[in-house]
Amino acid sequence: MPVEDGIIVCAQGVLYVVATPIGNVGDLSPRARETLAAVDLIAAEDTRHTGQLLRRLGIERPLQSLHEHNERERVAGLVERLHQGARIALVTDAGTPLVSDPGFLLVRAARARGIAVLPIPGPCAAIAALSVAGIAADRFSFEGFLPARRTERRERLAILAAEARTMVFYEAPHRIHALLADLAECFGAGREAAIARELTKAHETHYSGPLGELVSRLADDADLARGELVLVVAGVASRPAAEADDAAMLDRVLVPLLGALPVSQAADLAAEIAGAKRNRAYARALELTRERDA
Ligand code: SAM
Repeated sequence: MPVEDGIIVCAQGVLYVVATPIGNVGDLSPRARETLAAVDLIAAEDTRHTGQLLRRLGIERPLQSLHEHNERERVAGLVERLHQGARIALVTDAGTPLVSDPGFLLVRAARARGIAVLPIPGPCAAIAALSVAGIAADRFSFEGFLPARRTERRERLAILAAEARTMVFYEAPHRIHALLADLAECFGAGREAAIARELTKAHETHYSGPLGELVSRLADDADLARGELVLVVAGVASRPAAEADDAAMLDRVLVPLLGALPVSQAADLAAEIAGAKRNRAYARALELTRERDA
């Protein structure tokens, strides 16, 4: 707490928004552990679940439940405690609070009261999936869970079909086959997608391919309907992915040509075959030659 000439200038506490593991307890950051051990209270989505994590970590702190059904009633009391100087950690069952998880009302109310709200960043299934999907991650839209009812889900998908950015979806395991089928129908079977299942856990599995291929490949895969899942789907204008494909194609053509021809000739031919601009092919040919001769 800041002190000036021996006087405490800020009596307010801090709300720490703490990310916890999405499967592998080793992913809890040292800072998250220190924070959980130091706070006056932990507001947890499920106190039994968080209690287990704390016991594993050898931490004993008071817990209070804060979940989607009681958040509204709990917020005022928690903000009052923060105002009086308490340090409170907000955690959910897995990953980053507020991301398809409770905590929004508390964070908003605490900020409105001028209380410091600080993140202790860490695991998030959406970001973990996006980081390995091989689909453009420079611009993306987090869509979370789509409506469970088919008609509403398809209405939402009809809007998203024109989304230019990569999209990230969460889905319950028993609905993944239906979601894939709807996606293939609404976005087209050729749209690129990736599924990350059981991230950071013993049975972690990754699948990727065009939506139509994923639908048929995974139709009989019972495992898919068992684990936790994140679905990453390319946007309609996945330019970086297309550019990455073009670059890979140019390299595939250039490398053998450079083994047999002078740089300039190889670049001319490669540009022709790969449909690339001549100066781009030439620049890349020079780069590859330098790398080869280094
Ligand atoms: N707040 C969490 C986060 O930061 O990722 C998400 C909570 S949301 C209630 C739970 C959903 O996240 C699951 O249904 C699944 O879609 C996704 N998820 C969580 N853990 C996962 C994991 N280990 N592997 C794949 N998906 C996961």
